[in-house]
Amino acid sequence: TKVTPYVNEPFTNFSLDENKQSMEAAIAKVKSELGQEYPLYIGSEKVVTEAKIKSINPGNVDEVIGYVSKANQALAEKAMVAALETFESWKRVHVKERAEYLFKAAALMRERKHEFSALMILESGKNYVEADVDTAEAIDFIEFYAREIIRLSEINETQPLTKITGEDNKISYIPLGVGVIIPPWNFPLAICVGMTTAAVVSGNTVLLKPASTTPIIAHKFVALMREVGLPDGVINFIPGSGAEVGDYLTTHPKTRFISFTGSKEVGLRINKLAADTVPGQIWIKRVVAEMGGKDGIIVDETADLDAAASAIVASAFGFQGQKCSAGSRAVIVESVYDQVVEKVAALTKQLQIGLPENNFAAGPVIDETSYERILEYIEIGKQEGILLAGGEKAEGNGYYIQPTVFGNVSGKARIMQEEIFGPVLAIAKAKDWQEAIAIYNDTEFGLTGAYFSTDEERIAEALETVHCGNLYINRKCTGALVGVHPFGGFNMSGTDSKAGGYDYLLLFTQAKLTSRKI
Ligand code: NAD
Repeated sequence: TKVTPYVNEPFTNFSLDENKQSMEAAIAKVKSELGQEYPLYIGSEKVVTEAKIKSINPGNVDEVIGYVSKANQALAEKAMVAALETFESWKRVHVKERAEYLFKAAALMRERKHEFSALMILESGKNYVEADVDTAEAIDFIEFYAREIIRLSEINETQPLTKITGEDNKISYIPLGVGVIIPPWNFPLAICVGMTTAAVVSGNTVLLKPASTTPIIAHKFVALMREVGLPDGVINFIPGSGAEVGDYLTTHPKTRFISFTGSKEVGLRINKLAADTVPGQIWIKRVVAEMGGKDGIIVDETADLDAAASAIVASAFGFQGQKCSAGSRAVIVESVYDQVVEKVAALTKQLQIGLPENNFAAGPVIDETSYERILEYIEIGKQEGILLAGGEKAEGNGYYIQPTVFGNVSGKARIMQEEIFGPVLAIAKAKDWQEAIAIYNDTEFGLTGAYFSTDEERIAEALETVHCGNLYINRKCTGALVGVHPFGGFNMSGTDSKAGGYDYLLLFTQAKLTSRKI
């Protein structure tokens, strides 16, 4: 089939009744299927274990989404053997055929879009828009990486090597081997799908260990790949404990690469463990680690203050602040500080909290551990700043916390420096725009940032000096689009892999130069 140019998947407009109703219908359908058991997939086998991971609805903790079998080290080893064996045939499958599986998967996911979103609404606590965006991004990743591997396979035509007489020289991007894919729960479909399909379409086989709070949506993706006929053993699905299965595979001599997205702590651990060579290992393991953020929005006195306040609130509280790109900090210039803070507090107080399936603006955080940690940070915040909105748990049979804003926070405060990963916004006051940028830059992270101003000279300066992987001007700092905003951060935010960009597949391939005398 002819490959059309890449375009982003459109978002669904839920202010239209028919769209809202079709999401409600999808939620009802998913609800009628809750509580089932799901297997592991290892090579051609479906494996059912006695030990199970129980997945629950964080917005209604008595509702069980399902039970997923749980891999241990022995099963991880079995999966490694299957992946190694399958790699020998999969790496020889033509690029276009590998891409074809992805095109089919994207088409099928698009057909069942609301079903995927509905499952995320129930399993991860996203509202309609957040879930819809997640599914759209998953489709985008599949479509984008399928085209990317084709582009790389044709690189000799589009980007020929320097010619010399008497030789025909070519470069080709060949796969690496068996990779371990470790995604987070916060984009439980998009990131899981993006990391997995990028590795697989590049000709690698993988061991996918999904996040333990969102294994059912990961299973639904793996089932889809099986449905489109992806050969057994290309994606081996092994949910399990990060510490047990994760460490085992990270230190395994046959692991060629690890693609990780998650917290700084786990990413650094993987990086360290992977750096040690073990007997039988004949390569340097490649580690792609995309980690946390302490992202922020800077507002100067020339900015459109209403637009800035809306962007601050959207960036801080979309999906309860549980995005690596979440704007958990704002730095505002003194002369407009009171005005902006007042608008931010007012908009925050308008956010209604409730069950994701009823599409409230604010829903639950992911689990008990997160809930307790965020509430602790709120107590720390009460010492470090002035409470302007929220500050308490919220009603509901789940992990609900009020969207919380602290003002007058020092740039060095813990709530300004540490990733909270919840609905907590810290605001600092700067004497001028230069000091605002300095406060923004005073972090070990460097994932996303936004600068609000109408002054061209300052914008030019901000573009150079605000140090983060994804910098936006006069818009929110969340919502990167595949192909449009390649995504990845600096410093402790990770290896800056630029997911959804033109460099990404290079991380899952190695370049082979062939030179032939003519
Ligand atoms: P996490 O680090 O707790 O877990 C991520 C994954 O690692 C999970 O699948 C987990 O089971 C696994 N894991 C845990 N211990 C492991 C070990 N020892 N070895 C191997 N794997 C192990 O992160 P999370 O709570 O799932 O996700 C939230 C974090 O992810 C935040 O810090 C957020 O900023 C970050 N994140 C970053 C990006 C990005 O692109 N930079 C995107 C999304 C999320």
